Formats: sequence, structure tokens, C-alpha cells
Amino acid sequence: MLARPALTFSKSATEAASCSFDISPAHKRLREEIKQFARDEIIPVAIEHDRSMEFPWKILRNAHERHFLNTSIPHRNGSAPRDKLAQAIISEEIGYACTGVGLAMFINELSMTPLLLAGDDHQKEAFLRPMVEEPLMAAYCVTESSAGSDVAAIRTRAVRHGDEYILNGTKAWISNGGKASWYFVLARTDSDPSAPAGRAFSAFAVPANTEGIVLGKKEHNMGQRCSDTRMITFEDVRVREERRIGEEGDAFKIVMRTFDATRPLVSSMATGLLARCLDESINFLRDHTQSNGVVDQITQFKLAEMAMNAELSRMMCYKSAAMIDNGSLSSYHSSLAKTFAAEKANKAAANAVEIFGHAGCSEGVCVEKLMRDAKIFQIYGGTTQIQKLIISRLLLR
Ligand SMILES: Cc1cc2nc3c(=O)[nH]c(=O)nc-3n(C[C@H](O)[C@H](O)[C@H](O)COP(=O)(O)OP(=O)(O)OC[C@H]3O[C@@H](n4cnc5c(N)ncnc54)[C@H](O)[C@@H]3O)c2cc1C
Repeated sequence: MLARPALTFSKSATEAASCSFDISPAHKRLREEIKQFARDEIIPVAIEHDRSMEFPWKILRNAHERHFLNTSIPHRNGSAPRDKLAQAIISEEIGYACTGVGLAMFINELSMTPLLLAGDDHQKEAFLRPMVEEPLMAAYCVTESSAGSDVAAIRTRAVRHGDEYILNGTKAWISNGGKASWYFVLARTDSDPSAPAGRAFSAFAVPANTEGIVLGKKEHNMGQRCSDTRMITFEDVRVREERRIGEEGDAFKIVMRTFDATRPLVSSMATGLLARCLDESINFLRDHTQSNGVVDQITQFKLAEMAMNAELSRMMCYKSAAMIDNGSLSSYHSSLAKTFAAEKANKAAANAVEIFGHAGCSEGVCVEKLMRDAKIFQIYGGTTQIQKLIISRLLLR
């Protein structure tokens, strides 16, 4: 009889670690810190900021102090930029507290990303270093009234004159628009309408005090209201060539890469909102169940669904963030996480309002705000439909 080969039942440490569902002790500590910050500084004022739509400067200043704002760049105390997983953890806890505040914070990370991906040292020094030192804001000017999902349809033009460009056009729905110290601006540089998107657009970093920039009035968003969203018009704005980010014509790729690199933060914020819906529902039911203490089965199912979706959503966000940290940025995983989190946050918010009944329908009640805030996640950062197109395109490739 042949001798049987010895069997090994224990896996090597490397194999076991490659599928860890746990985060590092440092990330756990960060989660506790940001949780505390969000509960102390944001939750108590979130409803009031939603009502007044006042930009949350005080929160942002304190967040900057603790390196919860402008996390893609080093902190004033010299500590390194935070990794994407850490950023996702911060984003989730801020989203739990208030996604209006979260949007203002997120837009800075979004606006800085093109410079980190394609900017040169002078540009980083000019635009990013001041954001290390101070809680300054930036804005990301891509969308226009007739060009949202179809980014390639933008009409803002940058025409070269010697060693500068002249920018003309109007950007719409620009968050942090009235508070930014500089703008990331996408403009068409190729006048040939048949030029492929991959060669037709250029990107610029433009100081907000440049002559010719006109601010529109602040939009009254249905949700995430304390972020400052408005139109920005560029009227013969002169931009020096050295403020072009990357090569002329390369910006479409930079913009798409930026969306991929930052979607894990949008999805984390939506996951935070989802988790908040679950907690609010549980607390409400504990206080309001009938005298026999029984929660009906349909409501129990709603809670179970929220819990499952929060768990899944968090895992997808962490995975897409960790992939970026490991150098394997994936459009596919970023879009999966964004779509799932946005959809499930909306479902959870609608269910939370139902669980509250009439008590959830009044202005000033947390779940009413959560439902309005949740809807925005299906729109910005790429709509749910566009994300599904990206996912299926990648599946069918
Ligand atoms: C609160 C808020 C803040 C924002 N902040 C910023 C910002 O800071 N900077 C910025 O540049 N933009 C910002 N935006 C704009 C946002 O990115 C756009 O709203 C988004 O890209 C969608 O574009 P749109 O609104 O023009 O909708 P459209 O593109 O007109 O889409 C309308 C509907 O049609 C669907 N649709 C469109 N094309 C297709 C297709 N091919 N197949 C299937 N369905 C399709 C969409 O999914 C959507 O449901 C913000 C928006 C909001 C609401």
C-alpha cells in the first residue's frame, strides 16, 4: 500500500492574514477618536446646521487641528497623510453624525486628489501646503448645467494665449464653492468637437481670488444642506500655464482616476448614514414599543436588513479603500461600494422614517434629515445608474 502524504491542517500566517476582516490597532484607535469627535462636536449641532444651512467652520477648524480634515496631505505636526482606509473610517463616522459636514470635508479630499495624482512640486507647494497649515477649503469644478453624468459634454473653455490660458464658462453645483481658497477646474482645450475625450480637456488649479471669478447664489439643497453648493462663473479668467495640472489634453483621465480614488470615501459616508438609521431605529423602538414590549415582525425584518446592509457596505468600502492603499486602485470595487452604500442608505433611511411613523416626518427629527441627506448619495460622485453602467461595462469587457 502506498504511504499517504502527511496532511497539514494549519494555514501559513501569510495566507491567513491575506483575508483578514479586522482592521489594525491604529485604525481601531482612530475609529474611537473620530467617533468621539463626531459625537461631541457634530451630532449636537447637526440639526441646526441643516436648518440654517450655515457652513460648519467651527467643526472644520477643530477637525483640521486633529487631522480629520485634509487627510490626504501631511498634518501640521509633521505626521504623514492618512491612508485611504483611515480616511474611509473618518468619513464613515462623520457620515454617521452629519453628511452635510461630511460633504464639505470630502470635497477637500476630492479637490486635492488631482494635484496628488498629477500635480508638480510647485503646484503642491502653492496649493496644498497652505491646506496643511490652515483649515482652508477647496472646490472641484467639473459639473455644468448641461453636463453632469456626461462629463465630456462640458462647455467651459480654456484658450491658450502665450504662456497663459483664458478660462470661460459656468460650473454648477459646486460644493465649497463660496468658501474655497482655490478651485480645481476642468475645461475643454481642444476646439475640435470631434477630438476624443482623452485628448480634449485640461485641468487647472485656480486661486479663488483671481479676477473674473463670479460666485452664484448658494443652492438650497434638499439634503446635506450646510455644505456650500453654488454656481461658479469664469469670465475671461487668466490662468498661468504653470497652473495646468498634468499635460494639456490629459485631464479627462485625471478626473476619472480622481473619482475612482475618492469613491470609497463617499461610500463610507453613506455607510455611516446607514448605521445611524439603524441606531436611531433601535433607540426609538426601545422607547416606543407598546406596553408588552413586542416589536412586530415586519419591523424586526427592517432592522435585520439594515444591520446586514451596514455590515456589507462597510466591508465593501474597506475593501475598496484597502485596495487603493495596496496600490491596486479598482474602478470596479470603488463603484460597487459606492452603488451599494448609496442604495442601502436610502432604503435604510426610508425604513427608519417608517419605523418612526408620524414622529419621523417632522422637520428637526433626525430620521427626516437622514432621508433627505441619503438621496444625495445617489446623485453626486457618479449617479447610481452611471455606477451600474461602469460595473457592467467592466464585467462585459
Ligand atoms: C449636493 C450636490 C453636490 C454636488 N457637488 C458637486 C461638486 O462639488 N462638483 C461637481 O463638479 N459636481 C457636483 N455635483 C454635481 C453632481 O456630480 C451631478 O449632479 C451628477 O454628476 C449627475 O449629473 P446631473 O445632475 O447633471 O444629472 P444627469 O447627468 O442629467 O442625470 C439625470 C438622470 O439621468 C440618469 N442618466 C444620465 N445619463 C445616463 C445614462 N447614460 N444611462 C442611464 N441613466 C443616465 C442619471 O443617472 C440621473 O438619474 C453635486 C451635486 C449635488 C446634488
